[in-house]
Amino acid sequence: MSAETNGVVRLVMLGPPGAGKGTQAERFAKARGIPRVSTGDILREAVQAGTEMGQAAREVMDAGRLVGDDIMIGIVTERLSRPDTRAGFVLEGFPRTVAQAEALDAMLDDGAPLVVVDIEVPEDVLVKRLQIRRICGACGWTAPPGTKVCAKCGGSLVQRTDDNEAVVRERLSVYARSTQSILDFYHRRNTFRSVDGDQTEGGVAADLSAAVASVLGGLR
Ligand code: AMP
Repeated sequence: MSAETNGVVRLVMLGPPGAGKGTQAERFAKARGIPRVSTGDILREAVQAGTEMGQAAREVMDAGRLVGDDIMIGIVTERLSRPDTRAGFVLEGFPRTVAQAEALDAMLDDGAPLVVVDIEVPEDVLVKRLQIRRICGACGWTAPPGTKVCAKCGGSLVQRTDDNEAVVRERLSVYARSTQSILDFYHRRNTFRSVDGDQTEGGVAADLSAAVASVLGGLR
């Protein structure tokens, strides 16, 4: 590892709903022993816990729209200030707007590189994936296709309230509208890579690791 990176991997995973960001983020984070920070999961936990923030976010999430930047930037600022992120992190679901991307840069102003990987998947594949996606009703774990009960806690599987067809279309269109500005924000950086997400989970994981290695190797 280079002196510049000190073995720290800070990874942002971009990609549309259903691209496999969550699965890949979890896999990558586990392999490196760093935390996975998913803003969607943090919000769903707040909804389940019935906190004030959860109650405010629920309606917005169920409509497939974006929760406000101030709330999201506050959540991520707090989470990335915890000591477990010092060795690195995988951030997933954030940033979704340029204001969030700018805020993230400001949070990480110590010069350590931020690797940004965009997972690309065609829209018709995403719609199919999201319609069959099931999560655990008890703990929120995303189940791979064909699973019958939660492998983590044995809970029953349910459809996410925002994975029905109308909301899926809205989420994809919100993503399409916001994504170009985020890609414009990052794509000229030498820490940005794209990965083909329309392949097996293992294939995407291998390409993701190679993309991160090529960024960090190039910075040496
Ligand atoms: P996800 O699990 O990443 O698909 O997120 C589920 C929902 O949570 C989104 O459709 C948004 O309503 C909300 N959400 C998650 N992350 C963000 C973010 N960075 N900015 C705004 N809304 C978000």
